[in-house]
Amino acid sequence: MRVLFIFLDGIGLGVNDPATNPFARAKMPNLNALLDGRSLLKESAPFDGERATLLAVDPSVGVNGLPQSATGQAMLLTGKNISAELGYHYGPKPNPEVAAYLNDGTLFSRFAKAGKKTALLNAYPPRYFDGIDSGKRLYSSIPLAVTNAGLPLFRHDDLFAGRALSADFTGEGWRTMLGFPDSPMMEPHHAGRKLASLAKEYDFSLFEYWASDYAGHKQQMETAVGLMETFDGVLGGLVEEMKDERGKRAGELLVLATSDHGNMEDLSTRKHTSAHVPALVIGDKSVREEFTRDMKDITHIAPAIWNAVEKP
Ligand SMILES: [Zn+2]
Repeated sequence: MRVLFIFLDGIGLGVNDPATNPFARAKMPNLNALLDGRSLLKESAPFDGERATLLAVDPSVGVNGLPQSATGQAMLLTGKNISAELGYHYGPKPNPEVAAYLNDGTLFSRFAKAGKKTALLNAYPPRYFDGIDSGKRLYSSIPLAVTNAGLPLFRHDDLFAGRALSADFTGEGWRTMLGFPDSPMMEPHHAGRKLASLAKEYDFSLFEYWASDYAGHKQQMETAVGLMETFDGVLGGLVEEMKDERGKRAGELLVLATSDHGNMEDLSTRKHTSAHVPALVIGDKSVREEFTRDMKDITHIAPAIWNAVEKP
């Protein structure tokens, strides 16, 4: 089984209040269709339908304080209760203690060692590598795990060649913010199809979406609603591309969208929240059943992915 992990930074399951929660406002028809009319809200989970499962997963893992990105992402990638072992949540970028967990035993390193094809599907711009090389920028947990596993990060030429996707899905940011006026642009639906077709080339692939956490910290309701409506378009294309391959073993794909902590679902605060995060799983019903069994907190996600990819 191939697994695509869509990592959505800073998205929790919040209350159904349009004053504070963009998920109570955003028009997300593709998500609603997957969830039999439900939205990405606390009241919607747990749900198990024909096409998708939605669970509420605990990112706090029994540790006081608000969950943070470095430990949260490291726990998603390793399945280890790092916050409990260290006694704190930490972020946004990993400190040496958190980074030590990302040398080995991550999904990327384990799959690479097992001879599985694996990749982070984001394309990074030249200024990102300049920042890393000059020491001005630290890797966040996910790219750190990727590079520690000996895997390359995709670059602008990979984006232009269609081997990787822009972090905003559509590529607009490469034109407006990164100085690549001729970079490829895609409608969200097309980006979703592209994401699924890229994922079919790998045993395990991950796409990292961080704009959601940023919008949460900035408390930008309109931006947040727009981001999620774009994401809904992506979901539509993704599901369509998955459907085309239904029944064909080589095309079998399980998609998981989840997060490291809440934030954007409650714009009454600039901080992260203690909300449970969604685990939205799309794919074959029997595979979903096994995949989501005992999925209670974010340390249960990496073992579930490991088992699913190991299945012939
Ligand atoms: Zn954050």
